[in-house]
Amino acid sequence: MTAPLMICEHCDTVYRRRELACGEVARCVRCDAVLERHHRWSAGAMLALVLTALVVFVQANIWPIVTLGLNGQLVSARLWDTILMMWNDHSQIVAVLAAATLFFIPLGKMLLLGWVLLFARRGERAPGFRLAMVILHHIKPWTMSEVFVLGALVAIVKAHVYFDVIPNPGIFAYAVMMLLITVFAGIDLRRLWDMTAERTA
Ligand SMILES: [Zn+2]
Repeated sequence: MTAPLMICEHCDTVYRRRELACGEVARCVRCDAVLERHHRWSAGAMLALVLTALVVFVQANIWPIVTLGLNGQLVSARLWDTILMMWNDHSQIVAVLAAATLFFIPLGKMLLLGWVLLFARRGERAPGFRLAMVILHHIKPWTMSEVFVLGALVAIVKAHVYFDVIPNPGIFAYAVMMLLITVFAGIDLRRLWDMTAERTA
């Protein structure tokens, strides 16, 4: 699906493209600019990663995040319980920010990426490919699960002074999702443009 020729972005020299081996980088002979890097992640591998992240995301939202022990009573809280507690506790802005950064944006990102990759696996551009790529580019800095996990860990350690706080599986699921999202952040999605072609039906 990739074009047979490529042009150096810096000096306009034209090269014939060849398949790169793992870890290889093609450089321009005239100006030493990077032409192309070996693609470590195929579309299929990325899709598998997105699906894994989705499964973990569902678990992170179904399972309680923490259990609080108060006067001998144990209360388990899920992500949405915590968000609703914040909303009812006059912290609407924090509640909305938490819901957006921990739920809607990561979910939207995974669904969009999954949709694009589903077609990219066959070298095709999904319906709405252009729009999806623009949105993905803009929400890139807005997945703050890592901030959340760090904050939650600090809160658990601090709250331990006052109550019994038991971290629940949900928090570990969030930690795993955070790792997966960090992996996504390292993938240059722009090359999906090269990996796919407009469908000619
Ligand atoms: Zn060049």
